[in-house]
Amino acid sequence: MEQAEPITLLHGRKQTLIAKADRFLTRYYRPRLLPLRFDRAVVSFSFDDIPDNAASNGARLLEEAGVRGSFYVASKLCSRSFRHDVFASRKMVADLAAKGHEIGCHTYSHADSQRLSAKDFSQEVDENEASLCKLRVRDAYSSHAYPYGSVGLVQKHRSVRHFAACRSVWPGLNDGEIDMMQLRAVPLYDCLYSPAEINDMIDEAVAKKAWLIFYTHDVQDQPSEQGTSCALFAQSVAKAQELGADILTIQAASKRLYEAAGFSFSPYRGMERLS
Ligand SMILES: [Zn+2]
Repeated sequence: MEQAEPITLLHGRKQTLIAKADRFLTRYYRPRLLPLRFDRAVVSFSFDDIPDNAASNGARLLEEAGVRGSFYVASKLCSRSFRHDVFASRKMVADLAAKGHEIGCHTYSHADSQRLSAKDFSQEVDENEASLCKLRVRDAYSSHAYPYGSVGLVQKHRSVRHFAACRSVWPGLNDGEIDMMQLRAVPLYDCLYSPAEINDMIDEAVAKKAWLIFYTHDVQDQPSEQGTSCALFAQSVAKAQELGADILTIQAASKRLYEAAGFSFSPYRGMERLS
């Protein structure tokens, strides 16, 4: 089999004080707030970068439970490799979309967004969109996940123009007033949480009728430190279903939120206030 061409991703870069302050302040700038009005809890499962085992194992475990997930694609990564990961091919991405999974944006080159000007951020988003459009991915691209969780005031402000929802790596439940441009999310990593701790989070979401978003990278029996074992992934899906939570893609959950707040929702970015 042909070997995947390596690509370099910038993990663990040091942040300047100004960048840290920018990130901190960004949490308090909330350009699109929606009230959470769910009849019952929602749990979403999302995948970043899409290692090929997430596209196979992660998608399969969701499909076996009759539900779908959100896959955040940086097109430049497709079929390339980084460390232990080989990323899903464009064909795998198209197959995921055909099976009803959400394909979301993760910038074109997996850019550290906070370092980009507004114009360059938009260019990354548009380039990724153009690349995904060639796959004829239908109804894609209403949501975004910031690579490295990196976002500042400028990029968050700009995101309103592009997306209905943006997922961050700011941990916690989405409850009360929801910041649609910086949705909170919990890493579903075996090395961070035990199955019992994950169950407790799902219990809390159900009790509060809140929105719990999980994210991960690889899904395999021996996961990386940023990945999930098939066993933990399957038990998390089963627990959410057992407790009666709806498992929805981020796009589908966003649609529910927008409509409950009196907006029409188009999967393609936009929404309009209903008259
Ligand atoms: Zn990423």
